[in-house]
Amino acid sequence: MKCSNGDNFSQGHLAPYGKIELSPFSGILNYGQGVLEGLKAIRTKDGRVQLFRPEENAVRMKMSAERLCMPSPSTHQFLDALKQTVLANKRWVPPEGKGALYIRPLLIGSGPVLGLGPAPEYTFLIFATPVGNYHKRASTMNLYIENEVRRATPGGTGGVKSITNYSPIILVTKARAKGFTDVLFLDAATGKNIEEVSSCNIFFVKDNVILTPRTSGTVLPGVTRKSIIEIARDLNYMVEERDVPLEDVLAADEVFCTGTVVEVTAVASITHQDKRIEYRTGEETVFHKLRVVLKEIQTGVVEDKMGWTMLID
Ligand code: PMP
Repeated sequence: MKCSNGDNFSQGHLAPYGKIELSPFSGILNYGQGVLEGLKAIRTKDGRVQLFRPEENAVRMKMSAERLCMPSPSTHQFLDALKQTVLANKRWVPPEGKGALYIRPLLIGSGPVLGLGPAPEYTFLIFATPVGNYHKRASTMNLYIENEVRRATPGGTGGVKSITNYSPIILVTKARAKGFTDVLFLDAATGKNIEEVSSCNIFFVKDNVILTPRTSGTVLPGVTRKSIIEIARDLNYMVEERDVPLEDVLAADEVFCTGTVVEVTAVASITHQDKRIEYRTGEETVFHKLRVVLKEIQTGVVEDKMGWTMLID
């Protein structure tokens, strides 16, 4: 689907997976004019295929595009393209419990631009690929707190899914080489508060109260984060969205991460400088209760009272 800058997006089409052509002058290659999304199509217990809260991804892509002053497809166009992509790839959705079809919507400045200015043309595209279960790869996470590199700065793009947010991704490779699963970032303003992990949000549990960093422009408002907060409040847990200083990391009983890829995964340890703090994991945790409820909704095991799932038939 393409648009001339300022115009509505034209009707798109399905195409077999393959390379795309881009001008070396394109806005995405030269100035990082691009935003992305990520979601999964999941096979339910009875063999049907469903998406989880896709409107949230549509709205977030719009918000990301606005932040980067880019035009974006309408929510209707986003959802229609998504449904068509999943329908055409239904056979690639793994059986229930064996993974999902990962879907990546991309919106890029595809037209040529040399001087600073908006690209004259934008492209919205979606590709999809089957993925296995994250929990097979990592049943728990071991994080380290990054002391030098900050993921997001106040007034920057950390609160949206801009492609450029992911460029310090090499840090994850370094973390893995040292035996950690991922990197936990601090805020740039004070260097004292926890923000999020490179591709997921983080929660802390202390005495049954759930804490998570507020999303005030430097933390991505995750769809899974939002859903877990709603589930937790529905189960009468107290949830606080606020600054989470390092003291809360030291004091927590449990820690867990949320995201489309990691789903809801327990954090077994966090390392800060030379100190390693370990947390409760296992089935007797708040984390586990929340995870089970979310999973049951996503896989159609329980009735979706929240109206969060969209069947693709
Ligand atoms: N934070 C970042 C930086 C992410 O890339 C993601 C993945 N989209 C998340 C949090 C989790 O968001 P969601 O639950 O919507 O996948």
